[in-house]
Amino acid sequence: MTEETLFTKIRDREIPSDIVYEDDEIFAFRDINPQAPTHVLVVPKAVIPTVNDLDETQAGLIGRMFLVAQRIAREDGIAESGYRLVMNTNADGGQTVFHIHLHVIGGRTMEWPPG
Ligand code: 5GP
Repeated sequence: MTEETLFTKIRDREIPSDIVYEDDEIFAFRDINPQAPTHVLVVPKAVIPTVNDLDETQAGLIGRMFLVAQRIAREDGIAESGYRLVMNTNADGGQTVFHIHLHVIGGRTMEWPPG
């Protein structure tokens, strides 16, 4: 776990953020530029740059990231009203931080398809 990203700095408290969840392998914090009343990023502590870098051994981790997202949605009171889970990948997907993260976005009605 030597590679540094913006999110490892948040993980290591070198950059302040509003961390709402943490365990041995996953942490979650509120996005600095929220797109909705709830906008939380769920991030593995280990650096995985993009979805393209995932392998079979990380399947459980990805599943547990969804369970953390579910928990955050419940805690923020948006589980029943609804929310969106997004993982942007590379340039056309709009990814800007190359350390995979699941956006949990909710608290307002969202359009589909995305722009
Ligand atoms: P991406 O575009 O890679 O899918 O998402 C990166 C997200 O990280 C963006 O929604 C952006 O607002 C968020 N972000 C960037 N810098 C910071 C920061 O310093 N603190 C927090 N809390 N979020 C950040």
